[in-house]
Amino acid sequence: MIASVSERFDWIASDERPHRVGVLGGTFDPVHVGHLAMADAARIELGLDAVLFVPTAASAFKEGSVVASPEQRLSWCKAAVRDNAYFDVSGIDIERGGKTRTVDTLRDLRSFFGEHVRLFFIMGSDAARGLHRWSDAPALASLASFAVVPRAGHPFGSGEVSERGLDAFDFCLLDDEVLDVSSTVVRKRLASGSSVRYFVPSVVAELIECADPYRPTRQTRASDEVFGPAFERRIVSELERRVSERRLRHIRGVADMAERLAHVYGADPRRARLAGLLHDWDKGLDDEGARRRVFDLGLGIDGRMVFDMPALLHGPTAAEALRRAYPDIPDDVLQAVARHTAGAPRMSDLDMVVYVADAIEENRRFPGVQDLRDLIGEVSLEKLFFRTYRHILADLIARRKRIHPRTVEVWNSYVVDNRD
Ligand code: ATP
Repeated sequence: MIASVSERFDWIASDERPHRVGVLGGTFDPVHVGHLAMADAARIELGLDAVLFVPTAASAFKEGSVVASPEQRLSWCKAAVRDNAYFDVSGIDIERGGKTRTVDTLRDLRSFFGEHVRLFFIMGSDAARGLHRWSDAPALASLASFAVVPRAGHPFGSGEVSERGLDAFDFCLLDDEVLDVSSTVVRKRLASGSSVRYFVPSVVAELIECADPYRPTRQTRASDEVFGPAFERRIVSELERRVSERRLRHIRGVADMAERLAHVYGADPRRARLAGLLHDWDKGLDDEGARRRVFDLGLGIDGRMVFDMPALLHGPTAAEALRRAYPDIPDDVLQAVARHTAGAPRMSDLDMVVYVADAIEENRRFPGVQDLRDLIGEVSLEKLFFRTYRHILADLIARRKRIHPRTVEVWNSYVVDNRD
């Protein structure tokens, strides 16, 4: 028997009272607001105590067409449900591996939770219409009730039930259609570079952006040129026009420090140097200029950041402006540029290298900077990043600055693993 199905809801198994648990199985490639809305509608209409999102390992019906890895789909689901205390994610199907059969999922949940728990398998009407083709339908019907959420263009009622021989199933048909969103639409939008803002929770959009498996890999045509001395000279001469002399000294310091950190921590020194050189590309803009730049570039940035903390905008605006001006600059370099201001949960090594280099390059003078420099090579890159982040956060608090919610989120995502 499995030892745990979900951190939040394992207790239900040992509670003697009757419980009603919803199970939303799916590929979640990726999870979107339609999934969350349907889970919420089912929870409210059916009075469920909990809803478990259970991502498939391999899908029996979508062979070869699932794009994101099981780990990615799982972690996005976790991020999506975090702020709803009734929801959690279970990795049981992914841990079992192979082709996921819902009959196995429900059997495992049944034997884990016991007879005092009534299971409701939540599904869209599109999926319900194909239920007669699912493995071991008679066993399936005996394991749970089936909550069907209407989906546009996929009618499901008593006609479909008898036509498909589904009379053995205990169906509860939910009243309303939820949101007409699908993972297919989200994937298409991501592939074409369209915004998925409001299609997926913002925290999921950020995570997808980190390692977007849906975007066609960008041409890295002649990309080696961007690592050469001629390109560096070209960038520096443009920077001379964009920023002050003092700022340029800092930029060179960051490039040198990023290169050094990359050598020490096994990141790519050429990428680190390039990202260091580019990170303050938009630093010459004042607050108004930075806001205008966001609108000119059509960036979907959190409004709180645009209006309350314009000083954080120059990372994301620089990355987008550079992407357009120099298509050969690789995405991971641009990502490090974008993240050097507010950080992000799950920073890549290159992101951390640039973030740290920006804080501790040789021209920086603040109490404690040398202590941070002394940690280079003595502690892991993540620890060095965390210590640097902690320093910056403490300084913001001491100076009574506003803290961006993203900064808090980054702190929360690193703090547990980086206790001293
Ligand atoms: P794809 O577009 O890749 O087929 P999907 O959006 O249907 O994906 P899945 O992960 O396959 O998402 O779906 C899991 C379950 O959620 C299925 O039962 C599906 O019918 C249901 N579902 C997904 N989106 C909606 C929605 N907008 N309204 C109602 N049900 C939905």
